[in-house]
Amino acid sequence: MNSQHFIDLDETYSAHNYHPLDVVVERAEGVWVYDVDGNKYLDCLSAYSAVNQGHCHPAIREAAIAQMNRVTLTSRAFRNDQMGPFLQELCDMTGYEMALPMNSGAEAVETAVKAVRKWGYEVKGIPDNQAEIIVCRGNFHGRTTTIVGFSSEPAYKRHFGPYAPGFIMVPYGDAAALEAAITPNTAAFLVEPIQGEGGVVTPPDGYLRETANICARHNVLFIADEIQTGLGRTGKLFACEHEGVRPDVMVVGKALSGGFYPVSAVLTDKEVLGLLRPGDHGSTFGGNPLGAAIGRAAIKVIQDEDLIGRSRDLGAYFKGRLERIESEHIKEVRGKGLFIGVELHVPARRFAEALRERGILVKETHKTVLRFAPPLIITKEQIDWAAEHIEAVLM
Ligand SMILES: *Cc1c(COP(=O)(O)O)cnc(C)c1O
Repeated sequence: MNSQHFIDLDETYSAHNYHPLDVVVERAEGVWVYDVDGNKYLDCLSAYSAVNQGHCHPAIREAAIAQMNRVTLTSRAFRNDQMGPFLQELCDMTGYEMALPMNSGAEAVETAVKAVRKWGYEVKGIPDNQAEIIVCRGNFHGRTTTIVGFSSEPAYKRHFGPYAPGFIMVPYGDAAALEAAITPNTAAFLVEPIQGEGGVVTPPDGYLRETANICARHNVLFIADEIQTGLGRTGKLFACEHEGVRPDVMVVGKALSGGFYPVSAVLTDKEVLGLLRPGDHGSTFGGNPLGAAIGRAAIKVIQDEDLIGRSRDLGAYFKGRLERIESEHIKEVRGKGLFIGVELHVPARRFAEALRERGILVKETHKTVLRFAPPLIITKEQIDWAAEHIEAVLM
């Protein structure tokens, strides 16, 4: 079967809520994906950083298969022997006291919103139903109705209202604007340390540290959405570490399962998640033994293979190579670790198409930005190969 057959099926039966490149993937291994026509591509998107460990990582696959042969779902009506060890290992790695496991990233963001509101009412003493959460222009936190309601992107929210109240928007990168927006009813500030979907937008140096200090001074919780930037992607375990910031609330997803399965989590100390009582929150699949076994293997790979160090070193190397490309189309190269955005003066789609012709998969984001975020297992030789093609198409 060739690609066109599958493209036709997608176009006929799937809602058209995406505009994918017409590559029909049938299998993948490590940094490589293979399409149904027998072509091979270097993946430079990593499923939006969900496959930081590389596609179908053998250690994660073995853990998944072994767990599938034992038990996959218990629901939280009962306990299982995977969730506790998973959360212990996750807390040990990240330095938080508690975790609440969910599935998709958006669910974890929703969970964080609920947890910080509860903290706002029960610890900070905000009057009932008055809690405010400050968010940033250009944010991306997921696709639920509440979350799109506080997006600044018309495409994400138009005709999906009415929107949930309680969210205040400030410009990204402007710490003074955050401080000015805080009121006695502010429960939390929700921020991405680098705005991924917003176009790999890196805030000014010191922004995270300053905003974290402002939050601490005003008794406001600092929530980092590190669903895309976390777990090694930027050359640190969390991107907030580049500025020495330890968020009060950390949201993770994507690479938490290495792409095998939706696994997300909210991490905090006892002061926040410790407020939740039976009945307050839940998810049929959240904390299930299959997801937990996969999560355990996925974070072990990050540690065992030093993916954080690889991202730091190879990211600096890749970025350096991209910076040296002398193309009239390039406006800016930015990012940290293997999370690199190349902003162009012109729409990026045709360059993504041209790279695909040369065996490299990237996707334009925000029209004019090419995001390069390969699996963190990528080698220097593979980066050299990719950089030559990137240079060639941008000439
Ligand atoms: C992908 C992403 C989400 C949403 O995750 P889903 O699993 O798609 O729901 C939220 N926040 C950020 C920063 C993301 O990159």
